[in-house]
Amino acid sequence: MSRSRIVIVGAGFAGYRAARCLSRQARGRADITLLNPTDYFLYLPLLPQVAAGVLEPRRTTVSLAGTLPHVRHVLGEADGVDLERHVVRYADLEGGSGELPYDRLVLAVGSVNKLLPIPGVAEHAHGFRGLPEALYLRDHVTRQIELAAAADDPAMCTARCTFVVVGAGYTGTEVAAQGAMLTDALVRDNPLRKGIRPRWLLLDIAPRVLPEMDERMSQSADRVLRKRGVDVRPGTSVKEATADGVLLDSGEFVDTRSLIWCVGVRPDPLMEGLHRPLERGRLVVDQFLNVPGHPEVFACGDAAAVPDPNHPDRAAPMTAQHAWRQGKTAARNVAASLGHGTRVPYRHRDLGFTVDLGGALGVANPFGVTLSGPLAGAITRGYHLAAMPGNRVRVAADWLLDAVLPRQGVQLGLVRSGSVPLESASPELARVPGGPSD
Ligand SMILES: Cc1cc2nc3c(=O)[nH]c(=O)nc-3n(C[C@H](O)[C@H](O)[C@H](O)COP(=O)(O)OP(=O)(O)OC[C@H]3O[C@@H](n4cnc5c(N)ncnc54)[C@H](O)[C@@H]3O)c2cc1C
Repeated sequence: MSRSRIVIVGAGFAGYRAARCLSRQARGRADITLLNPTDYFLYLPLLPQVAAGVLEPRRTTVSLAGTLPHVRHVLGEADGVDLERHVVRYADLEGGSGELPYDRLVLAVGSVNKLLPIPGVAEHAHGFRGLPEALYLRDHVTRQIELAAAADDPAMCTARCTFVVVGAGYTGTEVAAQGAMLTDALVRDNPLRKGIRPRWLLLDIAPRVLPEMDERMSQSADRVLRKRGVDVRPGTSVKEATADGVLLDSGEFVDTRSLIWCVGVRPDPLMEGLHRPLERGRLVVDQFLNVPGHPEVFACGDAAAVPDPNHPDRAAPMTAQHAWRQGKTAARNVAASLGHGTRVPYRHRDLGFTVDLGGALGVANPFGVTLSGPLAGAITRGYHLAAMPGNRVRVAADWLLDAVLPRQGVQLGLVRSGSVPLESASPELARVPGGPSD
């Protein structure tokens, strides 16, 4: 390899793994550049625990400079790729711009919030995609409980301590499950009027929670949620959102100041600008993660429609597990394209899925065995610790502290509502209002 230029766009599950593998395989023989808007990899599955005050925000991050020493980092966001000139254009974080020429390109930009064309949602809902949203939600929930405790009007008190989560995939389910525990903790210090208690609603157009998972996992999660007081509403969608509440398709109006939007994701819009074939917004690639007609371009993770060898009729789902493994395959095939090793098709063995429901409970199906309760909770946390590429001790320490100490119920006010808007709607990708999610 004679110092080829490899550019990786996006340092999430797929891009981070590709950079890590390539830094071992191609060290000294290629210049590896990683373009990403943050200086960290974000372990997204633990974000609901940041919102619930279980984990401090930095715990879910892994420093790029600290863990990828042989990779050059460029802080910025790609805003175009010139496939003919082999150049990535980007905007940096200080208003400047630049270009990164490449011999090999790995596109791993992930996905963004999916907004459906429902009146009022863009203005009144908050998404859940990154640390700013998680920090905003943690403060917002705390503030609503504090305002509810101080409210003279019982109707206002009820509205302020009602929280509506739309989308009962793994994100929405975890947000509602963990959120209910947070508000229970908050009202211990901020007692509400007699007869009023925090209320969480979890809506999805699908007939059950965790609609894309095993039915037994779904039933167990449903049981835990209901036992915790979450009002689970399958087969329900939102018709309109206003500043005062949410109109459901049943005609019921729910007074609330909190609408949390977890209705799935869509691939990053950068993919549309490539003018290459897309499948539901994801860039079409072959089984080697190569973009057809461009042997020098690879794509992986949520942004790519990677053929699923176990289900030939569809692309691999948008999950961290797939993105992480695809990052490794992309790295191997990039190295092979430069004359090192042989390329391999993307293959995977399903290890199962885990959902953390808070309070040591969870649901999981490791190797196809469905589990629930504390055992599943322990497996879920063990899985996350094993899967995180760094910061494990700090995460474990936070879990320990949360088990023995009361949660801190304070607002830091670091993220304002205006800085965490939902993405604009994409009608061609829009799904049925209300889900299913993730
Ligand atoms: C709250 C939440 C919880 C989740 N929980 C689970 C779970 O429990 N289990 C599971 O399997 N999956 C889970 N997922 C889904 C999983 O996180 C994604 O499938 C996975 O992150 C996809 O990996 P990726 O590398 O494609 O994208 P990401 O991990 O999203 O990484 C994309 C990276 O690209 C960067 N980027 C974006 N646009 C640009 C650009 N234009 N230029 C440069 N960089 C760019 C982003 O900043 C980011 O760093 C969850 C997702 C969320 C949002």
